[in-house]
Amino acid sequence: MNSEATTTEKKRDLKSLTKQELTTFLEGLGLASYRSDQVFQWLYQKGVSSFDEMTNLSKDLRAKLPELAEVRRLTIFNQQESKDGTIKFLFQLDDPNDYKVEAVLIPDFYPDGAANRLTVCVSSQVGCMFGCSFCATGKMGYFRNLTHGEIVDQVQIINEIAEERYGKKITNVVYMGMGEPLHNYKAVVESARILSDPMGIDLSPRRITVSTVGLTKQIKQLADEETGVNLAISLHAADDEKRNKIMPINESLNLEKLEEAVTYYFQKTEKPLTYEYLLFDEFNDTRRDALNLVKIARWVPSKVNIIMYNSVAGVTLKRAREERLNQFMKVLADKDVTATVRRSRGDDIDAGCGQLAIREGQKKGK
Ligand code: SF4
Repeated sequence: MNSEATTTEKKRDLKSLTKQELTTFLEGLGLASYRSDQVFQWLYQKGVSSFDEMTNLSKDLRAKLPELAEVRRLTIFNQQESKDGTIKFLFQLDDPNDYKVEAVLIPDFYPDGAANRLTVCVSSQVGCMFGCSFCATGKMGYFRNLTHGEIVDQVQIINEIAEERYGKKITNVVYMGMGEPLHNYKAVVESARILSDPMGIDLSPRRITVSTVGLTKQIKQLADEETGVNLAISLHAADDEKRNKIMPINESLNLEKLEEAVTYYFQKTEKPLTYEYLLFDEFNDTRRDALNLVKIARWVPSKVNIIMYNSVAGVTLKRAREERLNQFMKVLADKDVTATVRRSRGDDIDAGCGQLAIREGQKKGK
C-alpha cells in the first residue's frame, strides 16, 4: 500500500461524524466550540466540500485541516426524468466499491405550473436484506449502510437542483428509497436531525417521514428519541398469512407485535401514523382485505396511503385494476378510514426503487 493511500485512510470524513463528534474532533485540534458550528454550517447549510471555501476559518486552520480530515460528497452518476417531472437520480458513493444508490425528486405543481411541494425520497442503505417479494432493491441483497452524511448529501444535492430549476427549496423528505431505514437506525436518526437543524438543511421535522417494514424495537426507540419526524409503516398486507408471503420480516415480527409497537409509539409521541399499502391485483385488494385494513387503521390514529404499484421485472404481483381500487376505497370510506390513493410517479422511467441501480449493474450482495 502506498503512503498516499495510508494518509487518506487516516483522514476523518467530517460528514461521517455526528455533531457532537465533530465538536470533539475540532476541539482536539484546539478550536473553540463555536468553530464547530461554523464548520457544521459549511458542511450542511452551504454544502461545501473544500476547506478552502470555509472562509471564516483562519488560514492556518484551512491549511491544516486537509491533512487530518476530508469532506466526501456523492456525485450524480445518472439521472432520468419522467414526463410528470419526477427525476430519478443514481448517486455514486465516494467508496472504493463503486456503490450506487437512488434518490428521487417528486414535484407537485399548482394549476399554473409553478412548483408546490418538492419531495425528495432518499435511500438509507446500499441494497437491503429484508427481501420483500415486490421490491427491486430486495432482489439485490444487502451491501452496506449509508453514513448520515451520505443520506444528507442526497437531499443537499437535489435541493441545489430544485433551487436552480424551480427557484425554491425542497419541502419534504421521505425515507422510502433503497434500504430499510430503521435497520440503519443511528445514521437515519442523525441525518434527520441534520435535515431539521437550523444550521443544517432547516427543514421542519413535520416534513420528514421515516418508513419501516415494522422493526418493532426501533419503532419504540424512535418514539423515545423525540425527533418530531413522522413514521410510516410499509404494511402492504393486512393479515399475517398474506404479509408472510410478500414480506419475510412478518414471520418474526408479525402484526400483533407491530400493533404493540405502534401503540407504544403513539402513546409516547401522540403523532398519527401513516400506513403504506401497495394494492396488488387479486392478492390484497378484496373486501376482506379492506376490512382487515380498517381494523389496523384503528389501532391508533392514522391515515392510509393506497399506492398503485409500478411493475418490477421478475415480480408476478401486478397493479390492482381501477374497479377493484374503487371498491376497496369505498370500504375504507364507509368505515371512516382516512385514505388517499397515490398514483405511481415516473411510470415511464425506472421508478420502482432499486431498478436503476440494478440496471447499472449493482447486483446481489451479502
Ligand atoms: Fe427492503 Fe424496503 Fe424493499 Fe422490503 S420494501 S426489500 S424493506 S427496501
